[in-house]
Amino acid sequence: MSSVKKLIIGGIIVSSIEYPSKISLVIFTGGCILKCPYCHNPELIFGGNPVEISTIKTKIKESLEYIDGITITGGEPLIQWEDVKDILQYSKMLKLKTKIDTSGFNPERIRKIIKWTDYIALDIKAPFYKYESVTGMDIGDCVKKSMKICFNNPNTFLECRTTYVPGLLNPDDMMEIAKSIQCDLYTIQQFRNQIVLDEKLKQTPNPSRDELLMIANKIKPILGRVKLKTAEFGDEII
Ligand code: SF4
Repeated sequence: MSSVKKLIIGGIIVSSIEYPSKISLVIFTGGCILKCPYCHNPELIFGGNPVEISTIKTKIKESLEYIDGITITGGEPLIQWEDVKDILQYSKMLKLKTKIDTSGFNPERIRKIIKWTDYIALDIKAPFYKYESVTGMDIGDCVKKSMKICFNNPNTFLECRTTYVPGLLNPDDMMEIAKSIQCDLYTIQQFRNQIVLDEKLKQTPNPSRDELLMIANKIKPILGRVKLKTAEFGDEII
């Protein structure tokens, strides 16, 4: 049996939007324990292709000339946390900025990688007590613990973000979320119904930017720094 270390990935791209204000090499990892009905990367939930870690490191090194950092997203990067940690450590050694996107399903794994992570984007998919009805798994307490670990780490910027899916969430849920989280930036993402895991959600209309703006304006006095992400207007700090 081969002992070559491999990471299951869906692809690698260069992007100016995945890591705010940075050009980053984005690694899409395969696998996720959740099955969010609105998942817009459903093909990544169920896998990807094994790529040798050494190949990924070479790609990072070859990209140094034109990137500021790396973003590891998914799927759920922390499913493969040991290899992800290896890539983070390697990137820090090259003086790159590092960002991880996670559902926060495993606080202990966050604790293990946070030292090498400059930026964590943590999904807050629902009020903590309502996780099971939105994601199918009752992991609200784990996500809350993950949030606290990130927020209490002074060297890591914490962005919490919620995809607003009408029918799964309502404006009261968003207020409930705002009152129960701590972060450096809170982002409200517009649900888009084109690519989703649960085909039934294709019938759910995309929320308008005005609807989201109303929610953002109510949340701003609670959380301070709020961002809207819509197809129409891109990223807007409210
Ligand atoms: S939205 Fe994220 S956490 Fe949810 S199933 Fe998709 S990859 Fe997993």
